[in-house]
Order: sequence, then C-alpha cells, then structure tokens
Amino acid sequence: MTQFRVQGITCMDCAEKFRRRVADLPGVRSASLNTLRGTISIEGGVSLDRLRELGRAERYTISPLEDEPSARIVRDPFPLGAAIRSALAAGAFGLALLLSSSGSSGAARIAFAGAMAIGGVDVFRKGLAGLARFHFNESVLMTVAVAGAVAIGEWFEAAAVSVLFSVSDLLETWSAERTRRSVRGLMDAAPEEARVLRDGVESVVPAAEVRVRDTVLLRPGERVPVDGVILSGASAFVEASITGESVPAAKGKGDAVFAGTLNTWGAVSVEATSVASGSTLAKIVRLVEEAQANRSPVQTMIERFAAWYTPAVMVAATLVAVVPPLVFGLPWEPWIYRALSLLVLSCPCALVISTPAAVVSAISTAARSGVLIKGGRALEAMGRIRAIAFDKTGTLTEGRLSVADVAGVTSDRRPILAVAGALETRSAHPIATAVTAAAHVEIATQSAVENIRETPGCGLSGLLDGSVVRAGNLSWLEAEGVDTATALPLSEALERQGRTVVAVARGLDVLGLIALSDALRTGTREVLASLRREGIERTVLLTGDNERTARTIAEAAGTDECRARLLPADKLAAVRSLAAEHGRVAMVGDGVNDAPAMAAATIGIAMGGAGSDTALEAADIALMGDDLSRLPFTIRLSRRTLGIIRQNVVASLALKLLALAAIVPGWLTLWLAIGADMGATILVTLNSLRLLRDRDGRM
Ligand code: ADP
Ligand code: MG
Repeated sequence: MTQFRVQGITCMDCAEKFRRRVADLPGVRSASLNTLRGTISIEGGVSLDRLRELGRAERYTISPLEDEPSARIVRDPFPLGAAIRSALAAGAFGLALLLSSSGSSGAARIAFAGAMAIGGVDVFRKGLAGLARFHFNESVLMTVAVAGAVAIGEWFEAAAVSVLFSVSDLLETWSAERTRRSVRGLMDAAPEEARVLRDGVESVVPAAEVRVRDTVLLRPGERVPVDGVILSGASAFVEASITGESVPAAKGKGDAVFAGTLNTWGAVSVEATSVASGSTLAKIVRLVEEAQANRSPVQTMIERFAAWYTPAVMVAATLVAVVPPLVFGLPWEPWIYRALSLLVLSCPCALVISTPAAVVSAISTAARSGVLIKGGRALEAMGRIRAIAFDKTGTLTEGRLSVADVAGVTSDRRPILAVAGALETRSAHPIATAVTAAAHVEIATQSAVENIRETPGCGLSGLLDGSVVRAGNLSWLEAEGVDTATALPLSEALERQGRTVVAVARGLDVLGLIALSDALRTGTREVLASLRREGIERTVLLTGDNERTARTIAEAAGTDECRARLLPADKLAAVRSLAAEHGRVAMVGDGVNDAPAMAAATIGIAMGGAGSDTALEAADIALMGDDLSRLPFTIRLSRRTLGIIRQNVVASLALKLLALAAIVPGWLTLWLAIGADMGATILVTLNSLRLLRDRDGRM
C-alpha cells in the first residue's frame, strides 16, 4: 500500500469523485481517501505523475507521504492566496456597483468582468476540466451558470455568483481546516524534543529519534515525549491528553507513563517503551483520524440522497429552460435565467458536510475528555443504547485486587501461596497480578510447575512433582473432580464479605483458599443513577465470580440485576438475550474474559485503553481514563450530535426548498440562489463547531 498526501480538499463530494477516478486507474486495486488527514492510500501500482494529473482537475497538491516518524502531521497552510483573491474580487464588484449607479455602464461592465475573472479563476478552471470529462461537479454548475448569465447580458448576476462562490469556497476550506486542526491539536501535547541519556551523556534530541530502551530524563514541568516506564524518581503526571483527567496521578518506579502527559514536580528517568510514532497518544490520534472513514448510518443515507439530488436538479433545470419557450411559446430569456438559478441551487455542499462536520467535531471533543470513539457508527449508536451490561472485575471494581486472606484447609499458608503463585505467573488476569505479588513477598524460591494451562473464567492448572495442581473457582475444581466439600463453608463465609475466592488444589485435595478484595470504583453509584436518568432501562452486572460476591458488588454499585458464575461464552449469551429484549445493548468490560461479549454487543466499551492495546483496538469506544462517569457524558454527546445533524439537514434542505419555491413567482435571482447555498454552508459549519466546545466530560 502506498500513501500520498492530498492538499486542498474542500468539497467532500469532489473528493469522493477524485477517489473513484483514482480507483478506476489501471493497476490500482483500491483507493481510500482520508479527507481528515488529507491522505490517499492506494492498493496497487500508480505513478505520482498520473495522480497529479487527476488531482489537477480539483486543484489538489499531491506529494508522496514519507514515513512521518513523529506522527506529526504537516498543517495545510492558510489559503492566503484564495483569501486575497476573494477580497480583490469583492473590491472589483463593489467598484462595479458604484460605476453602474453613477451611470457609466461600460466601465461598470469591465469592473464586473474583472470581479468575475478574479473571483472565478479557480472555479472556471475546475469547471472546464470537469466539463471536458463530462463530469458534473459543482464547479461545472457554477461555470455554466456564470457563462449563461453573461450570455443573456446579466453582468451583475454573473459577477455576484463568482464572488460569492469564491467566498463560500474559502469558508468551506476554513471549516474543514478547523475540524482537522482540532484533531491534530491532540498530537500537540507531545513535545518536539526529548532529553536522553546515552552512554552516560545527556543530550537533547528530536522526539522522533528516541529509540525503545533509551533512558529519557524528565524535569519538573516537562511533557513526556514517548511512552515509558519509570526507572527512578517519583512524580505526579497530568494525563489529561490521554484520559481527560486533569487531577495529577502519582507515579513511581515501575509505573507506566504516556507520551503527551505532563510531569508536575519530580525529576524522573524513564525507559522508553515506544517510539514517538508508536505511543498511545499517536495511536489515539490515528484512530480518531480514521474514525471519520467509519460512516454513521445517517451519513450514508445523506450521501446516497446527495448522489441523486444533483443530477435530478440538473434535469429539472434543463426542462425549465427548454419546455416553457418551446411548448408554450414563452420568451427564452427569463426561463433560461430561472434554469441557471436552479443550477446554482443544485450544489449539495451544505447537505454533504452537515454530518461529517458534526461527527468529526464530536469525536474530537470526546477524545479530549478521554473517550475514544471509533467512528460515526459508534457515536450514533451510543445515544440509542437501552441497556448496559457491566463486567465486574476491572470495570465496576478497580481491578486492583489484593490478597486479603489466605485460609488453610488441608495445608498451611506457604504451600498454598507457592502453588498459586507459580501457576498465576502465566495469567494476565487481575487475580494473577495480586496473587503473584503476594507470593513474591512470602516465597523465596518458586515451585517448578510445568504444563500450565488457563481455562478462561475458571482458573489455571499445571503439573508439580507429578501431581496436578489447580487454582481457580471452587465450582470449576468440583467439576474437575476435586473434593471441595471441606472447603465449602469457609468459602461461603469469605464470599459473603464480598471477596473473590481462589481455591488452590493439589491432586484431589483443596489445600486452601485465597481471598482477594477489590474496591468498588468511587462514584459508581452516581454513574448508574445518572445513566438511569438518561433513560437507560436496564443495567446488569455480568461476572464469572460467585453469586455472593457478585450480589455484594451489585448492591453496592446499584445495578438492576446481577448474573454470576458466567463463563466467557455465558457472558456472550447474556448480552445476546439483553439485546433481544431491549434492542441496543452496550457491554462495558476490561477485555479480560469478556471480549466476545463486547464484540456481540451493539457497542463494546473498553475500560483503560491507555493500558492495553487490545482494548484500544477491539472496542468501539474506549474509556481511556477508566472513568465510568464518561458513560453518561458520551450518551449525551451522542444525542447532542444527532440533534445537531438533524438541525443541519433540516436547515440546509429548508433553505434550498425556500429558494426553490421562490422560482415560481420569479423571485429567485442567481445571487439569492448562491447566497442560500453559502448561508446554509455557514450555518451548518458553525452549528457543528458548537460540538467542539462541549468539553466538560463530567456528569
Ligand atoms: P469477572 O467476570 O469478575 O471479570 P472472570 O470471568 O475473569 O471474572 O473470572 C471468573 C472467575 O474465574 C474468577 O472469579 C476466578 O474465581 C476464576 N478465575 C479466572 N481466571 C483466573 C485465574 N487466572 N486465576 C484464578 N482464578 C481465576
Ligand atoms: Mg473481567
């Protein structure tokens, strides 16, 4: 796959046509255009010259995209030339008005022609190129309209259309650039330079040149250039650029730090675990940029509508020009004039940008608040969710378990921890982290357990000195033939305290139980109450843990219901049955033993994307800061976005219809037609940009 930079994209409709033309080139298998990043990715062979030739029709600047090592994207320069041209054209137009009101119509005509030429060069050039190819884009419409107006002697109208269209073009460029900038602004959190320590020598290098395993030194007040792990020192980091959370998080030796976060008070040294372009922040930016390619259903619908709207209006315009004079013997000129106004009206630009402008603004606002939304589909669906299923460990609870108790049954404490500790080294489950940590403190030498195998949602088994050892939940052990009767009462007592219990067995005997505690996330009750206020009908806790623990947590959190002892496949079935009952369901999980359920839900929401790549890649939405309060926020943002899209569509269609209605009594002038289009474009753009301001992220 080859990528090229495409600069100068303004009209989405034209960009899509350009993409299709590239895809149709011999040797090209597929082409996908990312209008937000301003890149085109091409599958198959194509020469730069050939691309440039195609791009020339739309006045695009195309250049090869080198590996962008820092993932920093070059800004499109402000369209200064176009702005100056619009201003000059407007000046010439004003002069023409003055001249014609003072009676010198000959001089006025020259000034009108000047305004037309200055304001319209771009459009005419694009229009003629399109016309030659029989390719009816908006520039063709405008060119025909202006030429037609000149032909029937309407100089004022022709000039007005040229000038207004060039202003409207400029506005569109600005609005596209504005949303693009809000996404790229995310990347600005990462510094350009890094201070690294190589062979005992401290030096400042560009961030893009930091290698994995480099030692990076951070002074107080500096931003982190790459992801890494703290080697020495301690400090607090403001991770707002990743999680949206502005309260600094305390970190010390062994903790992970992320590119783009701010080191507050301590001097620390960090071992780089990523290069700048591979950091979590760079991934977030890339995913946000790609999100716009994932269209929402509303957007697809509108694009389909726009596809037949333009040709339909063109046919109508031809009929208006030809039928009344030929069939009813009416004069040609007024009907040609009406047809030209119709042509100008047929530009669907406001309609086409009504959705992407809003979607991109909302996604970028969400990213700033620590919510990564992977596209229009997820954004749109989130506002329509009726039921939410939550995983327990790591979702409703902190997921930072700790060993609260080790209770012997047929053995004393040490062998229990030794066996469990050896088994759990192979697991990524939060339970494993807690158990290995506890074992590490108390057990000097690790037991040599072999053949370790994990059964998701159940536990682990292995071989120790010829006998089978297991660590997992009691019902699984029972199913495996272990004698659990003696351990049962003790286990129930621990579960009633809300503990997660891991039973450890050797052969057919339970050695003992490890009780783990896990704190409920603070504010969970408020979040669930707030979700209910947003109209969520049902909240359910799904867990592989035992009933008693599950009920304790569900009551503390305030979910409507809890279902316990679920294997990963049961969680999936539970999500399906919720979907059958309520329609749209979201599943919130941490990706450990609940990924299938997340995939089966209408929307899979992952906790803590900052920590795990899989969660970031697999989910539809990721809560980067592990903050459940972003759920009601995201639902509200989604609904606001849908509302704004609806307003945009209604406003742009209503303006067109009004203008269309004005044709009948002959009120529609050419400049009114283009004014309606420009007005709609401005309205839609400003309305969508309102979404950039919603940065609260709180409940
Ligand atoms: P949750 O729904 O709380 O995220 P899981 O489905 O991940 O729980 O696991 C369910 C149960 O299976 C746990 O409560 C535990 O008893 C057992 N289990 C799962 N993985 C392990 C493991 N690595 N070590 C010990 N027990 C495990
Ligand atoms: Mg889990």
